[in-house]
Parts: sequence; C-alpha cells; structure tokens
Amino acid sequence: MPAVVTYWAEHAWLPHRGGPAVQPEVLITAGPDGRITGVVPDSGPCPAGAVRLAGLALPGQANAHSHAFHRALRSTVQVGSGTFWTWRDTMYKAAAALDPDRYLALATAVYAEMALAGITAVGEFHYLHHAPGGARYADPNAMGAALVEAAARAGIRITLLDTCYLSSGFGAEPTGPQLRFSDGDADAWAERASALAGAEHARIGAAVHSVRAVPAGQLDTVAQWAATRGAPLHVHLSEQTAENDACLAAHGVTPTRLLADHGVLGPRTSAVHATHLTDEDVRLLADTGTTICMCPTTERDLADGIGPARHLASAGCPITLGSDSHAVIDPFEEARALELDERLRTRTRGHWTANALLKAGTADGHASLGWPEAGRLEAGALADFCVLALDTVRTAGAPPVLGAETAVFAAGAADVRHLVVGGRHVVRDGVHRLVPETGRALAAAIGALR
Ligand SMILES: [Zn+2]
Repeated sequence: MPAVVTYWAEHAWLPHRGGPAVQPEVLITAGPDGRITGVVPDSGPCPAGAVRLAGLALPGQANAHSHAFHRALRSTVQVGSGTFWTWRDTMYKAAAALDPDRYLALATAVYAEMALAGITAVGEFHYLHHAPGGARYADPNAMGAALVEAAARAGIRITLLDTCYLSSGFGAEPTGPQLRFSDGDADAWAERASALAGAEHARIGAAVHSVRAVPAGQLDTVAQWAATRGAPLHVHLSEQTAENDACLAAHGVTPTRLLADHGVLGPRTSAVHATHLTDEDVRLLADTGTTICMCPTTERDLADGIGPARHLASAGCPITLGSDSHAVIDPFEEARALELDERLRTRTRGHWTANALLKAGTADGHASLGWPEAGRLEAGALADFCVLALDTVRTAGAPPVLGAETAVFAAGAADVRHLVVGGRHVVRDGVHRLVPETGRALAAAIGALR
C-alpha cells in the first residue's frame, strides 16, 4: 500500500458540533497504518492524485451478529410455514454438510456479499466447532480459523465470537448436530478458545449461545474468560417465549436475571434479540450497561416478535444491528426496520432519528465488537468506510444534506458503490476487487452443500 491514500468524497456524514451532518467535498486521507490521518470538508473539487468517490461516504457498517452458514438457507426456508424450531432443523441440516474447506469457501463469499452491502466488520457468532459426531479436527479451531481466513479473503474485519454451546436445553446432553457444537464443558471450551489467535483484521471474543445451551453453573467460566481478556461477550437472549418459560421452570428466574446473576451482563456484553423482556429485565440490562443487538430482518423472518428496542435505548442500552440468519444482508434495511417496526406497533412516527440509526450501525456496532477505534470518519479512526450512490432510482432526488435520511429510509445494499477497509479500496464501483464474481462464488459454495 502507498504511504498515504487520499480519497475525495462528493459528500460525507461527519461528526459535527450539535450532531453528525452531511458535508460536501470531503478529503479523507489514510496513512500506511490503515488509519485516517485527516478529514477535510469543503475542500473544493477533487484534486489530482485523489480517488474520486461520487455519492455519500459513511463510516463502515458493523454487522454485529452473523452466523455465516445460515446464508445457505436463503429462500429454501421460505417454502411452507413452520416455526422457529422447524427452521432450526433445516439449519442443522446445512451445518451437517460443512467442513473447514467448505466453510472457508462459503464464508468468503458471504463476507464478500457483506462488503458489497457496506459492511466493514462482522461479529461472527461461531458455534460449529467440531466434525460430525463431535470428533475433533487435527486443529480443534480449524472451523474458527476458516472464518478468520474468510474475512481476510473478503477484505473485511472480523470479531470471532467463539461460542460456548454445551447442552440441548438446560443441562440436557447435546444430541445429533449439536454434538458438533459442544466442547463437553466450559473449561474445555475455554482451553480451546484460548488457542485462537487474532490478526490485524481479526479479534477474538466469546459468546454464550443462550441460557438453553450453557448450564447456569458454567456461565461464570465463559464470563470470566472474556473479562480476563477485556474481550466482547455476546449472548442470544429471550428470542422466543419458549426460552423464557423453560428458564423460569428450570431456575425460577428470567434468562436476563440468570445471566446477571452469573456475571454475564456488563458494558462489554451484547445481548442479541432481547425480544421478550420484563420491565425488570430492561432495568437489569440498562443498569449493567449491556448493549442490545437487534436483528430485525431475522426476527421478522422467524416471527419472533418486535423487541423493545426503543424502551431499552431510552433506559440507557446502546443498540446495534445484525443480519444474523442472512435472510437478507442489508444494514440499511436493518436500521430502518428499527424505526418502522416501532411505528407499526405504536401507530406513531419518529422514535429514532436517521442519525441515531446510523450511529447504531456504525460506532456502536464497532464498539460492541471490540473495535472502538472504528465507525467514525475522523482523524485517528480506522479508515473503514462505504460510499452510497445518490443517483440511483432509489436515492436520486433528495437534497444531499438529507443524506442520512436517504441512507436509512430509502437506500439499500444495492446502492453501495465503494468500500474502503484500513485505507484499502475493497469494493470499487460496485465490484468486489478480491471476490469479483461474488454471486458465482455464493452459488458454488452453497451448491456444494446439497
Ligand atoms: Zn443468532
């Protein structure tokens, strides 16, 4: 990479006195360390030697919750009806066909799709650790290593959230496909996870799959592992009322209370979904500074219900966004869903500003994945950003000063023209430069699982 790369964005959404604002003719320079060295708005026409980026530059989107292999289920799970639990059976069948090589190919294509959608960092909630039947690979972290390598090949950052999954439900032994997820106990999980290595583009975090999958007495081990490393800790929480009912039956408390009692909640923790909560749960999550990751397109797809995102945010929880099962991969659709779902529920408008929704998908998302130095266009931050075209049939016509509103309420993944990660131009004019035939790569990787 040259010593310094200079980009010139026609418009950019920048931090500003009194809140972020769209500004014109913005020079963004990236140093050899992949960080932004300067951001200059109102800089005049694009100078010679700068890379011209037509449209609106935004900080890179953080996809805070992903299971890469669920991408293989797209469309096939839309036939007929079913429930969350029958969907899960189909998902288990896709998992059964994966090995490290196939997962590398699939995840590379999925992360390339994310790059094309404006995503510069993914939180991969990874639990498919072992070979069929639970046999260990020669490298017990071969599957996790494949995901880290896939992100490198797709040119994006990853936080590998290595997931503890031990039980088919509140202490019951794992069965069938779940044998591939389980390390036996939390100590064995911790030993394996401790052998994972980060990289310049990769950081390691932890996850508790859910209160269903990790017995209460072993939650502390996972929480402690993350605390010792200052690492992000993620957990699926109360996506389905059945989980709440079973937790109450097993422990006499809600899943939120159980997690709080075992040290799982806190400022490094993200609770994913948080769909069905009591007022006391909301208070606990807010008092502990826990982040909430909403995945509206998945929650919609699985008929989970509408989570109390506005209530949680007002109580003090940072909110982030994830595409989770990848029914679609579109961070702008996730952002607008937060507001639009709330409108349907309340029959009133205006619960979130476009600026607040963009912050959830950028700065707060990155922070929740352990990349607090990303998600903002300012000197010192990582040079990670995307550029939305403002001249497509979806985005044309609005004044550029309303770029945030256009991005959130009108644009979609198909409007992303450029992606820069660590100063490197990964997507140029809508084409992924490392995985140029991304559609073909997805088709091949998914076809190989049938
Ligand atoms: Zn999930």
